[in-house]
Amino acid sequence: MLVTRRRRLASLLALIALSAIGALTTLCFLPPKYPRIAWPDGKEFAFTIVDDTDKSTIENIKPVYDCLYELGILTTKTIWVLQTNEPNIPEGSSSHGQTLSDRDYRSFILELHNKGFEIASHGARGVSTKRFETEDAIGRFKQIIGHYPHTHINHGSNRENLYWGVSRLDFWPLRILYLLGGGERDYTGHIHGSEYWWGDVALRNIAYVRNLTYEDINTLKINPSMPYHNPRKPYVNWWFSSSNGSDAQAFNRLLSKKNVDRLEREKMLVYCIHPFCKRFCLRRFLEHNHKAFTGRFGFQKWLVCPCKRNSRLSERV
Ligand SMILES: [Zn+2]
Repeated sequence: MLVTRRRRLASLLALIALSAIGALTTLCFLPPKYPRIAWPDGKEFAFTIVDDTDKSTIENIKPVYDCLYELGILTTKTIWVLQTNEPNIPEGSSSHGQTLSDRDYRSFILELHNKGFEIASHGARGVSTKRFETEDAIGRFKQIIGHYPHTHINHGSNRENLYWGVSRLDFWPLRILYLLGGGERDYTGHIHGSEYWWGDVALRNIAYVRNLTYEDINTLKINPSMPYHNPRKPYVNWWFSSSNGSDAQAFNRLLSKKNVDRLEREKMLVYCIHPFCKRFCLRRFLEHNHKAFTGRFGFQKWLVCPCKRNSRLSERV
């Protein structure tokens, strides 16, 4: 009985925390004020996608990249460098997927890189990795790809994630609510002395790290200052936010007709996160909407890899 009550209380607190986050976000950003970016060549908006590499294999993502390349859409592919080294991870877990340690996959990634896709970091591997291996992985990334990753996206519950869990929030009442609701605090990539510490390596080598994700399609309207530096999180050079396209439903909801209509109206930026291993949804979506995207909605009005796009945003900081 007591356990049930505690669980109910924890759920209630989690709900209050989420509602408070939503309300504060709304209050902070209403009325909408965001910079109108002068995109290159008079283009009206920018759209890009970051592919979370969880469960990716050549077999399940190559068709998506072939399709994107045909459409001239050069997006960001995150990768892992090292194979998962935990034997008990269940098949089908998001910690699995091919990595640069696989020769064929390495060739596939290099081909994408040569075609103009941005290759970014999703951490050393799909599970928690200690400092010496993270350093090794970053070195191998440079050796194989030719440069350090411009962009890093934290993965799931990897302990070396930078400013993850409760550390994603700055506002202390939200942090308390988050923890009371059962949120995690055990991410220590940014904590000097931790066995997972690599903040100094990130600061030296990585330009951009993704933090919060929103439901709104206009990422820049929600977070007009991005990319931004947060002095309370000194081991990340620049943060950026993203719009949620984390599964088929969210992706299609984000790119609904109503939302896409706003593309031209608001001259916006969409920074969508979507795992391409869920290829059937995306491929069908792209095929069905190719005409719309290249025609009315001007999907190809201005598309560059996010590292270049973020650089452009940085110019005005
Ligand atoms: Zn992931």
